[in-house]
Amino acid sequence: MRDIDSIAKLAGCFAKMPGVGKKTAGRYAYAVINMPRDEAEEFSSAILDVKDKVRFCKTCGNFTDEDECEICRRRDGSVILVVKEPKDVTAIEKVREYSGVYHILHGVIDPNNNIGPDDIKIKELLVRLDGVSEVIVATNPDLLGEATAMYIAKLLKPFGVKVTRIAHGLPVGSEIEYADEMTLSRALSDRRTM
Ligand SMILES: [Zn+2]
Repeated sequence: MRDIDSIAKLAGCFAKMPGVGKKTAGRYAYAVINMPRDEAEEFSSAILDVKDKVRFCKTCGNFTDEDECEICRRRDGSVILVVKEPKDVTAIEKVREYSGVYHILHGVIDPNNNIGPDDIKIKELLVRLDGVSEVIVATNPDLLGEATAMYIAKLLKPFGVKVTRIAHGLPVGSEIEYADEMTLSRALSDRRTM
């Protein structure tokens, strides 16, 4: 009985992951049973490492193991690309065309859910504008993403920084995270001034 319990428990853990149904969770659990022990150890310690080491970059708000992430430390800080969440950075990095830094808002303005400008990382963007020539707003092309982009453009106007918005190559209502590389690349290069 004991063995069945631990398999069910592991399957239950996998089932908590996004996009993993009960059936797949069970298959994952059985795959772990067949794993060599060192691989299973690596697997479980990787999960704990992420919990213990990962924090937010003090500058851009992306996930990092350090105080400041590698992108902020090494790249051209004169262009800032603003996104909703860390997953969007991963999507844009895959395109390999962008060489500036990022700013992660950790959300968008959503009045219906009582999320105002102060509830996302907009203030943190304002203190980064020294020496910045362009801010590219790459929030999702949906209602809340557009409204948040407009708000940011208005807010930055007095600072004299050029604010651009990624192009409409992305289907309306879609998410940056799921866009293919070609579409993202075009959306970036065809950005327009707000
Ligand atoms: Zn950073």
